[in-house]
Amino acid sequence: MDRLDQATARSWLATAVEEARAGLAEGGIPIGAALHGPDGTLLGRGHNRRVQDDDPSAHAETAAFRAAGRRRSYRGTTMVTTLSPCWYCSGLVRQFGISRVLVGEASTFRGGHDWLAEHGVEIVLLDDSACIALMRDFIAKNPALWNEDIGE
Ligand SMILES: [Zn+2]
Repeated sequence: MDRLDQATARSWLATAVEEARAGLAEGGIPIGAALHGPDGTLLGRGHNRRVQDDDPSAHAETAAFRAAGRRRSYRGTTMVTTLSPCWYCSGLVRQFGISRVLVGEASTFRGGHDWLAEHGVEIVLLDDSACIALMRDFIAKNPALWNEDIGE
């Protein structure tokens, strides 16, 4: 798998950020994701829908994954997410053999990306200031909803 150049990484992250902002505009939790194929094609995109669908399992990564439909293999695919993936979504990455995870930020929440790296998944952590600002602002305004989302 080719290494991801910065310009491509930033443009892929921008799609996930658009999804996060769409979720926020719906009154939801601003986490967005996108799944890209080995050739860079956008396969699916989505955002967290816990509030909108009253469904705690509707995470950004699962939404993007479902939007992509069925694939025989996930080798070479990249899951892009605005926030470090939780254990559930980290499990999804391993279950289906997604090769790479591009993480917008891991400072407001540190999920399973180190564990994924230990198991051979390529992790690209961007430490993106827009992603951090989006989550910090959301958490400050919605502490109860945030704690519900992270199970605390
Ligand atoms: Zn998740």
